[in-house]
Amino acid sequence: MASSSLFRPFRPRSRIATLACALSLLVAPALGSAQDFPSRPITLTMPYAPGGPGDAITRVFATSLQKHLGAQVVVDNPAGASGTIGTAKVARARPDGYTLLMIHVSHATNGAMFKSLPYSPVEDFEPVARGTSGPMVIVTRQGFPATTLPEFIQHLRANADKISLAHAGVGSASHLCALMMMSALKVKLNEVPYKGTAPALADLMGGQVDVLCDQTSGTVPQVRTGRIRAVAAAGKNRLPQLPDVPAVAEAGVEGLEINISFGLYAPKGTPKPVIDRLVEGMQKSVTDTDTRARLDAMGVAAVPVDQATPEALRAHLKREIDTLVPLLVRAGVQPN
Ligand code: ASP
Repeated sequence: MASSSLFRPFRPRSRIATLACALSLLVAPALGSAQDFPSRPITLTMPYAPGGPGDAITRVFATSLQKHLGAQVVVDNPAGASGTIGTAKVARARPDGYTLLMIHVSHATNGAMFKSLPYSPVEDFEPVARGTSGPMVIVTRQGFPATTLPEFIQHLRANADKISLAHAGVGSASHLCALMMMSALKVKLNEVPYKGTAPALADLMGGQVDVLCDQTSGTVPQVRTGRIRAVAAAGKNRLPQLPDVPAVAEAGVEGLEINISFGLYAPKGTPKPVIDRLVEGMQKSVTDTDTRARLDAMGVAAVPVDQATPEALRAHLKREIDTLVPLLVRAGVQPN
C-alpha cells in the first residue's frame, strides 16, 4: 500500500470545497442568516443505499432532528463508490447547515482505500456530533450448509474458494468486519461488493451470496422472519436481540470485535451558530425517549449526551483513523 495514502485524511482542504465555501459567502445574505437557522428544509445525506442499516439510522435522526429543529429534514442517498460519492457531494455543498452528512467508519477508512479522494475527511468537514453505536452480526443465506458456529468455521476453512462474502464496498463497516473475520479465521473468501448492505442483504435472502457481516439494524429483523440465519455476534458478547446466537469469542475466535458509530458532519466553514443549533438538535435527539426506543428496536444505542458533541466526534474519527487504517494495511488491502 502506498504510504502516502495514509496521510490523505490530513491533507489540506480541497480546492473545490474552498471554492464552494467562497461562493457561498457571496450568496449567503440572500439565503437567510445563521441566526435564523433553520428556516427551510435540511438535506441529510446518507451515502449508502436506501433500506440499509445506515439509512435506517439516518431516517430515525431525520425524524428526530425535524422535531427538535423545527424544519423539514429529508434524506438523500447518493450511494456508490464506498460512500465517497455522497460524501464528496456534502464536501462541495454550501456550508450553511442545509446539507449534512451522516456517516460511520468509512469516513475514517476511505482515506486509505482510495488512491485519490475528491475531499479530505478531516479538512473538508465540521464534526457536529456522534449519534449511535452498535454491534455487528455474521449472517448466512438460508440453506448454507453450516448452522452452528463451529460448523461455520470448519465449513469456511474447508470450502473458502467456493464461498461468497457480501459487503458494502471497501472501507465500509461490513467490509471491515469481513476482513477481520477472514483474518481471525485465516481464510480468504470471494468478496462481492455492493452499494450498501440493503442490496447485499437482498441477494443474501435470494441465495445469490452466502455470507454477510452487518449491523443489527438491517439483519436482526430478517433473522427474526427466518429469511436469513445468524451465525454469531462479531465480538465478545451475545446480542440482547438474539440471545440464542453465540458470540464469536465463545468459539475461541480472537481479533473479531467491531462496533459501529454514526456521526453527523457539516461542510467545512459552516458558521458556529449553525453548528451550535445542530449540536443542540443532536443532543435533544440522543436523549429523546422516542428516538432512543426506535434505535433500541434496531439493536443500536444512542450515545450518551456528552458524546453528542463536535469534540467527541472529532476524537472518535481520529481514533478510527489511527487504529483501523493500520489494520487495513496489515490485511493487505490495496487502495483503488
Ligand atoms: N452500514 C453498511 C456498511 O457499512 C452500509 C449501509 O448502511 O448500507 O456495511
